Amino acid sequence: MTLLDLEFDRHHIWHPYTSLRDSLPVYPVVAADGCELILENGQRLIDGMSSWWAAIHGYNHPTLNSALQLQAQRVSHVMFGGITHAPAIELAKRLVNITPTGLNKVFFADSGSVAIEVAIKMAVQYWLSRDLPSKNRLASIRGGYHGDTFAAMSVSDPVNGMHSLFQGSLRQQLFAPRPECPPNQAFDSGCLSALEQLLASHQHELAALILEPIVQGAGGMRFYHPDYLRGARELCDRYDILLIADEIATGFGRSGALFACDHAGISPDIMCLGKALTGGYLTLAAVVVSDAVATTISNGPAAGTLMHGPTFMGNPLACAVACASIDLLLASPWQQRVDAICQQLQCQLEPARQAAGVRDVRCFGAIGVIELREPLDVAAFQRECVEAGVWLRPFGRLLYCMPPFTISSEQLQKLTQQMVKTAFSC
Ligand SMILES: *Cc1c(COP(=O)(O)O)cnc(C)c1O
Repeated sequence: MTLLDLEFDRHHIWHPYTSLRDSLPVYPVVAADGCELILENGQRLIDGMSSWWAAIHGYNHPTLNSALQLQAQRVSHVMFGGITHAPAIELAKRLVNITPTGLNKVFFADSGSVAIEVAIKMAVQYWLSRDLPSKNRLASIRGGYHGDTFAAMSVSDPVNGMHSLFQGSLRQQLFAPRPECPPNQAFDSGCLSALEQLLASHQHELAALILEPIVQGAGGMRFYHPDYLRGARELCDRYDILLIADEIATGFGRSGALFACDHAGISPDIMCLGKALTGGYLTLAAVVVSDAVATTISNGPAAGTLMHGPTFMGNPLACAVACASIDLLLASPWQQRVDAICQQLQCQLEPARQAAGVRDVRCFGAIGVIELREPLDVAAFQRECVEAGVWLRPFGRLLYCMPPFTISSEQLQKLTQQMVKTAFSC
């Protein structure tokens, strides 16, 4: 890569949430191995982001590489209309097996946002099939993030989700306040009353409640009590509203349980998976659905057809690597690893609470968050990180990490040192 290549990148390529006018620096990665990203100049950076929740086993893993290579020698892609293949079947078996009880039907989508669109479409089709077409709105909770497509944006936090920018293009959905009930404190059931009011007064028009179970990710990096989720499940049953659990960030061990719903012992009606599904190798998502919802849709209008079918649905390469990733995860001591990461994060980030510029420090599963009072200068922070040999990417006032489960305690310590140092310099 030459300087000219980086100039070309600056002028011609959008990166996530960037402007082509004032683009921030980007760092050229030429390889990645284990828990390290390798820059073009040979520098190695310890990865604190798992490429946004996805790379739970680290990079360049021999087992995942070989699953991908083997499948590439058979068939990399084939249309899923009228055709099936072993990788999709094997992956669906695993998902039906490991997801909460009752989720037995699988729809493969190509990204998290699309999985959310499909889940919403399923909820709407479900009520059409029950001859209740007015039940077509969604309820959600503030502080959520569900993706960047239009229906996904409409249920994401109205402020973080930039609803004002897209006013007129977004369906107006209904929001309950952010749950203020941390998982490590006694649960106050009053915490659920606003949600109950919302669901009770709008039940006639609500298709589903959609939320991120226990861990709210990109919408604020907050954690809430499993009893809130249990309560939400009960309220959905009471008011005849479907529950959609967005486990795109939390799925596959990140929260310390295989799925965040497991903390509460509940089954949603519809669950969305993505991100770590392929161990971070390829883009793939899945919507896993209860028998009741699937059967009702299948007995509904349009000859019971679920009206969705992406071109790259059930991509064999992605399904094969997802199977290998799930097997690898289940064969590993993932729970001990996540618990150990959690303890180390708690221990080593806690001192940051003393810093004047810090509002809160919180950890849950393999996720550590320092919430600052003011937003960070991302470019300056990342330059410092790269000099220190770590890779972190803050978001507004949130300085956080969610490393691969395979990170060593020495590597993790480098990440927490950088985070705490930054917290004291704010
Ligand atoms: C990332 C994310 C999405 C969107 O997934 P994409 O693959 O980026 O479209 C949806 N919900 C949650 C909770 C996420 O973290």
